[in-house]
Parts: sequence; C-alpha cells; structure tokens
Amino acid sequence: MQSKDLVQLAEQFGSPLYVYDAEKIQSQYNRLTKAFSKVDKLRINYAMKALSNVAILQLLREMGSGLDTVSIQEVLLGLHAGYEPEKIFYTPNGVSLEEIEEVTAMGVQINIDNLSILEQFGTKYPNVPVCIRINPHVMAGGNANISVGHIDSKFGISVHQLPHLVRIVENTKMNIVGIHMHTGSDILDIEVFLYAAEILFDAAKNFKNLEFLDFGSGFKVPYKKDDIETDIEELGKKLSKRFNAFCVEYGKELTLIFEPGKFLVSEAGFFLAKVNVVKQTTSTVFAGIDSGFNHLIRPMFYGSQHHIENISHPKGKERFYSVVGYICETDTFANNRKIAEIKEGDILCFRNAGAYCFSMASNYNSRYKPAEVLWLSGEGHLIRAHETFEDLLKNQIPLPVSAATV
Ligand SMILES: *Cc1c(COP(=O)(O)O)cnc(C)c1O
Repeated sequence: MQSKDLVQLAEQFGSPLYVYDAEKIQSQYNRLTKAFSKVDKLRINYAMKALSNVAILQLLREMGSGLDTVSIQEVLLGLHAGYEPEKIFYTPNGVSLEEIEEVTAMGVQINIDNLSILEQFGTKYPNVPVCIRINPHVMAGGNANISVGHIDSKFGISVHQLPHLVRIVENTKMNIVGIHMHTGSDILDIEVFLYAAEILFDAAKNFKNLEFLDFGSGFKVPYKKDDIETDIEELGKKLSKRFNAFCVEYGKELTLIFEPGKFLVSEAGFFLAKVNVVKQTTSTVFAGIDSGFNHLIRPMFYGSQHHIENISHPKGKERFYSVVGYICETDTFANNRKIAEIKEGDILCFRNAGAYCFSMASNYNSRYKPAEVLWLSGEGHLIRAHETFEDLLKNQIPLPVSAATV
C-alpha cells in the first residue's frame, strides 16, 4: 500500500489510526512456508498477543494458520474467530492449574512450562496430550526484556532438569506429544538458533510418543532501511535439513511448528497520528502529536525505534525533530529524528506498527483507544471502531450521590 492511501484513510477514519496491510501479512506467511517447504509437516501458529483483532485472526485462519495463545481470554478470542480447538496452542507462563484445566476442557493443545504444574496435571490427567516447554538457556540476541531463553529467564523448564522431568513423566505415565522452546525475540545469529535446536532434539529423544517439535519464534524484522533481520531462507534451508534427519533418527515423521507474532504482522502495520503542535525550544524542535505512549508504548517501554515519515508533505526539506506524545509525563517517540519538514496538521506515519502496538494500548490519561483499519484488496475496512465516552464508563460503578458527598 502507498502513502497516499494512508493519507486518505486518516482523512476518512480520523486520527490517530492503526492500519494493517493484509497483503503484507499474506506475503510474510508465504515466505515462511516457502522457506520450510522441504519439511512435509509444517505448521504455523500465529502468536496472537502481537495483534489480536478478530479480523486479523480470521485473515490468518483463512491462510491456514493455527494460533498460539498465552491466556484463556486469547483462547476464547481464537474460538470466536472460528479456529478449531485443535488448531489452537496454549503456551502460558505462570498461570494457575485451574486455568490450564479450563483450557484443556476446550480441546486446546496445552503446553506446560514448570515442573510443579506438570506433576499436578500429570497426576490428575495422565491421558491428556501435553507439550512441554524447555528452556535451552540460549541467548538468541535482542533486547533484554524480550529475550526469554537465557539462564535467568522465568520461562520454560530448564534443560538441566530433564532427569527430574523424565521421572515425573514416567511416574504419572502422562502423554507427552510435543517439545517446545521459544528463545525470545530478535534472533540475529542462525547458528545460535540451530545450537538451541540441537538441545531440543536431544531432549526429544527422552520421549517416545512425540508428534511435533515446536521451535517457537523470535524472528527479527527490519525496523529501518538496511536493518538486519533473521535470514528466514537460510534458517529454512539449514533447519529443514537437520529436522528431516532427526525424524529419520527418531523413527517417525514429526510436525515442525513455528509460532511467529512479530514476523507476520509487524511490517504490515502503520500508525497514523496528526501533528497538533510544532514547538521550537532552545534545544530542539518538538512535534507534538494527537497520541502518546498510551497508544504505542514500544519506544518508551523497549526503546524501539519506529521509522517515522511525514506522509502529508513527504517531499519537504528534512529537518531534525523530537516527536512527542500528549501524555503528561515523559512521552517520547523519537529524538533527533530526520523528517521532512513538519507543519501543524500533518499526518505522521509510524512503521512496524503491527506487532505489540495496538495490543499493548491502554486508556491512560483517559484517552480513547484508536480505531483499526484493514487494507484489503485496495480498500480500507474498519475492523475496530474508535472508542467513545461510554467505553470509558463501562464497568465503572459510581457511588450513590449521598455517599459521594460525605
Ligand atoms: C510472544 C511469543 C511468541 C511470538 O514472539 P515474536 O517475537 O512476536 O515472534 C511466540 N511464542 C511464545 C510462547 C510467545 O510468548
């Protein structure tokens, strides 16, 4: 999709606005399946916490994707979007046994990531097929907040605890059908990923009934021009070969699973916001927009650098700006960023706004969450309406007047 389409959508639906390009989601999905075309049984489970709008879930379901969920509410949304329970994986961290039992009853594939719950669950339900999340203790790279496979991480069962794990499985006679790892976001080094995969293969040999191996995700996508990204094609070539060899060794054709979030939706997303005010100070020029970290928290939360363009006047002379939001505390999207000269009223476009943007939005400062639009076959479809004052009041219970006045 082109900048002029985005400008038109901002006029039509107002700002701030999230826009997602269906074609880009499709092409990323196809790129991944193509890279692993040598694997007979490949399954992609979209990690829906990245972007959980039901229309996006429907779109991915149509492409043949399964779903990776981390909460019972995500499971409910997935079922609502028409996914069959068998197509949904549930990969939570630190949830209660009760929640796991509820999800099991829905027919969803559960993934257990600690020995305590594994033992309790196995004792109660020896026949339910279970996947185990292993922590291979491999640091795949990237931001410390999103790296989850390293030694201090709270995720997964340490690979060093395998003897204990195997004992629990033998004692309870539970049915282990899959092994899973997710080393976190931003894999830069394929060799490190392959090394972690070897640890998973080794662990897999302890279980006789496996049906799949789940390699998680963490594919890095480019955020700016010439940015490094995970070489999916290279990973596909190397891991497919190794995976197929492992299946021969194991004596059974297993399913290879990935559960990408960011890779599928990050680049498909655009966040559009209007410049309310251009403010010259002694140190910089601020461009203040009609949004804040309540709508897009990644720059403040992770220090993410979203590329920003002035799509209203893309041809202007480039100048340096600090792009800031309206939240009443530090709320910076970008410092010293070169952007085509900004006039008040211009629409700025933030790239890579598909993953972990709307899904992390809040009502902080009592602002409404923005609308979402899906760009499909050359047309903008509203897939979430802009919030209204009623949404802010929903579920709030005011005191009776007499109590409020004491
Ligand atoms: C968040 C998450 C993913 C997706 O990670 P991305 O970096 O967005 O691809 C996959 N698996 C699990 C278990 C997750 O928690």
